Amino acid sequence: MKPDTDFIITGEQVSKGALSCRGCGWSLLARYVSNVMGPETVYVVPACCFSIIAGPSPMNLMNGTVVHTLFAAAAATATGVRHALDRQGKQETNVVVLAGDGGTFDIGLQALSGAASREENILFICNNNGAYMNTGVQSSAGTPSGVRTTTDPSGKATPAKNVMEIIEAHNIPYFATASPAFLRDLQRKLEKAKEARGFRFLMVDGPCPPGHKHEPAISIELARIAVETRFFPLFESANGGIEINYFPQKNLPVDDYLKRQGRFAHLYSDGSESRAPASGQDSGAHANGNQTRETSGKNQEMLNAIQMQVDQQWEKLMGKQTVSKV
Ligand code: SF4
Repeated sequence: MKPDTDFIITGEQVSKGALSCRGCGWSLLARYVSNVMGPETVYVVPACCFSIIAGPSPMNLMNGTVVHTLFAAAAATATGVRHALDRQGKQETNVVVLAGDGGTFDIGLQALSGAASREENILFICNNNGAYMNTGVQSSAGTPSGVRTTTDPSGKATPAKNVMEIIEAHNIPYFATASPAFLRDLQRKLEKAKEARGFRFLMVDGPCPPGHKHEPAISIELARIAVETRFFPLFESANGGIEINYFPQKNLPVDDYLKRQGRFAHLYSDGSESRAPASGQDSGAHANGNQTRETSGKNQEMLNAIQMQVDQQWEKLMGKQTVSKV
């Protein structure tokens, strides 16, 4: 049987030499976004790692126009760009926001909510790597509980904000989650989001070796395990209702995802280690699941809590869903 290769990019739309770290999810995402959107696109980028990766004009990474804007203003800037293009009769030009979780869950949320409420005709894409990575791994509202960051050196006590439920409350025509480990699904969702009109939202899992503290070579493997353990479920909504796009078969515990990353390594220790800040390129002595010490009671409580959050989130999705396949 001929292998299915229709998701492989042939007409590359990004330039060589992206300024991301090795194994960064942003780079792969940029390739797929650029390939689906084409050159008739204005990208709006608030402060995030992609501000650097996109490159300074005229050496843009993306084949299209890139507008850099303030942290809080991505959706407002995109709204202005959209209206200006419409006044010029350029309704077919795409306007796409590329933001991190800080510019989506936290600092950009007000503008995002305003644009979604007004049904602005833009696509907002969030690369969710679960912290402010380009400023040294500070916690965001998208940081999962238990993660050690420079602002939560003992591990974040509270769960990530469920931004997809906030988005859902805006009754927009299309929203979805996607993963760099499921490229056909990512491509299909980008195409669907491109075709839809009105405010559209896509949240993509963003592997980040320095922030998540894992080897760059396992980024895609980790993204796959995030989906397989239901830590990052794949679903979408087109004009109401939720469709789960992938049902993990093996019922893997969330441990299988957490223990491969240095950002969760302290949860697998006896609590006697020093509180080294979780920044920089070092993958950490505990990365890749090489923990040897016994997990302390407090840490086990946090691990149980994370599993419970994942289970509850999945049950909630199951309660809302209709079925389709990746
Ligand atoms: S810090 Fe993380 S998100 Fe930022 S460029 Fe490096 S790998 Fe990508």
